[in-house]
Amino acid sequence: MTLDSLLLYCRAGFEHDLANEVTDKAALLGIYGYPQFTKQAGFILFKCYSCEDAQTLGKSLKFSELIFARQMCVATDLMNDLDPEDRITTLLKAAEDFPLCGDIRVEHADTSEGRELSKFCRKITVPLRQALRKRNKLTNKENATKPVMHVFFVTGTQAHVGYSLPSNNSDFPLGILRLKFPAAAPSRSTLKLDEALQLFIPASEQENRLAAGMLAVDLGACPGGWTYQLVQRGMFVEAVDNGAMDPALMETGQVSYFAEDGFKYQPKKKPVNWLVCDMIEQPQRVAKLMAQWLANGWCKETVFNLKLPMKKRYDCVMLAKSVVDEVMQKHGCEYVWQAKHLYHDREEVTVHMRLKNSKA
Ligand code: SAM
Repeated sequence: MTLDSLLLYCRAGFEHDLANEVTDKAALLGIYGYPQFTKQAGFILFKCYSCEDAQTLGKSLKFSELIFARQMCVATDLMNDLDPEDRITTLLKAAEDFPLCGDIRVEHADTSEGRELSKFCRKITVPLRQALRKRNKLTNKENATKPVMHVFFVTGTQAHVGYSLPSNNSDFPLGILRLKFPAAAPSRSTLKLDEALQLFIPASEQENRLAAGMLAVDLGACPGGWTYQLVQRGMFVEAVDNGAMDPALMETGQVSYFAEDGFKYQPKKKPVNWLVCDMIEQPQRVAKLMAQWLANGWCKETVFNLKLPMKKRYDCVMLAKSVVDEVMQKHGCEYVWQAKHLYHDREEVTVHMRLKNSKA
C-alpha cells in the first residue's frame, strides 16, 4: 500500500470547499495532485504523484492555516475487502513503512453512517494497539512527540491508514473539540466563541490575553451567547444589537447594552482588548469592518464569523481576506489571520485577527 495521499476530514457537505483549498495551497507549495471525494462523505483524499510529495505535503501544508480541514494525515489509498475475521493482519502490513508512532486513533467520518462505526472502532483499538506495539510500530507508552497513527474506517471492511505529525495536526479525535453546552448560556452560538478562543489562543497565553477585567465589544450580540463567554472570563462587555439581551447576563453588571448599528458603533473607551462579531451580513463587509477596528487601534484582537454562501465558500473566504489585506496595507499594518470552519460552525467560518508584534 503506497502512502501517496493526504487524507483530510471535514464537515459533511464541505468536501468540495476543502478539495479546492488543498489543491490551491498544495500548488502554491509546488506540489500537484488531484482530490477524490464523495459528496457528504465528511472527508477527502488528495492524491499526489509520489510518496515523497505526500510526505512533503504532510509537513509543509500548515494544518493550522487550513480553513475547512478538521484533521490531516499522510495516508494510503482505500484498502478494500478487509477480512472481517482478521482485519489486523492487513492493517499491520499497510503500516510497515510507517515511522514509529506515539499514539493511535481509530476513526470514522463525522456522518450518520460514520458514527455507526464508532463502537466497532473503539473495540478494534485495543488489539490493534497491542499488535502494533509488538511490531515496534507504536511506542509502549503514549508519546506526544511522535507521529499519530490514524486508522480511518470508511465501512467495516474499508479503511485508510495514515499518520499525522504532532506539530501539524489536530489534537482531537476526529479533529473535533467537543464542548459541553453551559446551561446558563442564552444561545447555542456560545460554543462557537468558546471553541474559537480555545483553538486560536494558545493555552499558555490565555491567562494574559483573555484576562478578567478586560474590555470587549460584541457586535450583533443578542441574545448573548458570545457575551456570555466573555463575561465568564471576567470581562466587561459593550453589547451592540437591536434585539433583546438575556436578562441574567445584564444582571451580572458586566454588560452595557447599546441598541445601535454595529457598522457605526465606536467603543466608549479605546482600545478595547477584544472585538467579537457575529452579525449576519455580507462577509466582505464584516471583514472590512474588523480590519478597520484593528488598523484604527480600536481593538487589540478580534474574533468574528463570516457567513458563507452555499457555493464557492473557499473563494468567498479568500475574497474577504483580500479586503482585509487592502485595509491593512493602506494603514501600513501587518497582521495575523487564522480562519477555521469550527465544529460548532455551520454555513460560516470563524476568523481570529490581531496586529503582528502586538503585545496584547
Ligand atoms: N452571537 C449571538 C449569540 O451568541 O447569542 C448571536 C448573534 S445572531 C447570529 C446575529 C445578531 O446580529 C442578531 O441578533 C441581529 O440582530 C444582529 N445584527 C445584524 N445586523 C446588525 C447590525 N448592523 N448592527 C447590530 N446588530 C446586528
